[in-house]
Amino acid sequence: MALTGIQIYKLLPQTNCKECGFPTCLAFAMKLAAKQVELADCPYVSEESKTQLAESAAPPIRLVALKSNGYETKAGNEVVLFRHEKTFYHMPGIFLRILDTEAEEDIQARVSAADKYQVNYVGIDLSIDGFAVASVSGDAGKFSAAVSAVRQASQKPLVLMSRDPEIMKAGLEGMDGEHPLIYGADTNNWEAMTELAKERKSALGVIETTLEGLADLTKKSTDKGVEDLVIDPGGRDFSSALTHNTQIRRLSLKKNFRPLGYPIISFPGDAGDAGLESMLAAQAISKYAGFIVIDHFSPASVYPLLVLRQNIYTDPQKPIQVQPGLYEINDPKPEDPLLVTTNFSITYFSVANEVEGSGLPAWLLVTDAEGMSVLTAWAAGKFDAERIAKAVKEFNVADKTSSKQVVLPGHVAVLSGELEEELPGWDIKVGPREAVDLPSFMKQVL
Ligand code: SF4
Repeated sequence: MALTGIQIYKLLPQTNCKECGFPTCLAFAMKLAAKQVELADCPYVSEESKTQLAESAAPPIRLVALKSNGYETKAGNEVVLFRHEKTFYHMPGIFLRILDTEAEEDIQARVSAADKYQVNYVGIDLSIDGFAVASVSGDAGKFSAAVSAVRQASQKPLVLMSRDPEIMKAGLEGMDGEHPLIYGADTNNWEAMTELAKERKSALGVIETTLEGLADLTKKSTDKGVEDLVIDPGGRDFSSALTHNTQIRRLSLKKNFRPLGYPIISFPGDAGDAGLESMLAAQAISKYAGFIVIDHFSPASVYPLLVLRQNIYTDPQKPIQVQPGLYEINDPKPEDPLLVTTNFSITYFSVANEVEGSGLPAWLLVTDAEGMSVLTAWAAGKFDAERIAKAVKEFNVADKTSSKQVVLPGHVAVLSGELEEELPGWDIKVGPREAVDLPSFMKQVL
């Protein structure tokens, strides 16, 4: 049973020293009971209390890692139902499924293409996380050959899929030092699969279509000494996947129900159709999957999933930022125009990409607006004439440019008067409201 806030409080030092960031030990205890802080935030808990608090301090959803040669994909350790309550921590790993009935050359070609795929989104490199190798042939030799073929084309973590312990053993051969997901254990094979997972120190996928059955199987596996579990509640359509995943997340977080406190694995590819797969995968990203296995790979279908995942797993309280400074676009000369924007990543890349794509040279002054977009920063008092003038001086703009002309974003035209006062002798121009209109503005007005 999880401890209440009062029970936790009794085990804390009760000195109200505030080092944990809370005014009292009781406030900290309440947060700990709600899983919103970590016990390690209080440096003064005695060893005896730590043991007693272990259950309350343990994450409600276990952190599970799949590891291979230099790669690691983690899922779990989430503490909230909704991102705005705090943040989501470990984005779900996206794995491409390979069947052992495919020809080895085809496997290598598919895996190699997916492995190499990398795309830059607002300064962050996005890619898929690994491959799931499924035994469809029922032949241990073919499964083992398929795993080897995947390994020749990629070193990323693997999910091995077979319900037959002998076939699984064959797949695991030659994977020394790696910790793939062994998927999986059901009511018939769980003992043998649990032994394999224990031997290999690998995570075990547990499969059951009812939550009661799933909880029973995870309990049996942990009793046998396998703690790193990934659960498959079986929902494959929109409604049942959403229902199961939400129930599991709620039970884990709100009821501290340990037998279901594990990352969930989802198989949107089981829908068969590539379009449906994308939509189910998007739902799985939004609603609580820890690992997602897809069957179709193309940049057009994977890119939106990677971007969605990145956005949902970005801390809403910490916007993605770029470094403030003076950026050069298309090799500008001193006389080329100077544009101004904020250091919110999406704003920066919107402006920079439009100008870069136009081929027109320009200087882009990125001011420190604490990672906010133009209008938000202006409304919050983080993007004003004083800050822009300060950035002009801080980044020695006058030494590098000679036009003495600044282009303000159209949304903050209201700043032009104040900026004239802050930068006497400079010509303040009001640019377009949208980045997409910058190239034509630069051609026609500057
Ligand atoms: S750091 Fe520990 S002792 Fe200090 S106020 Fe927080 S909970 Fe209490």
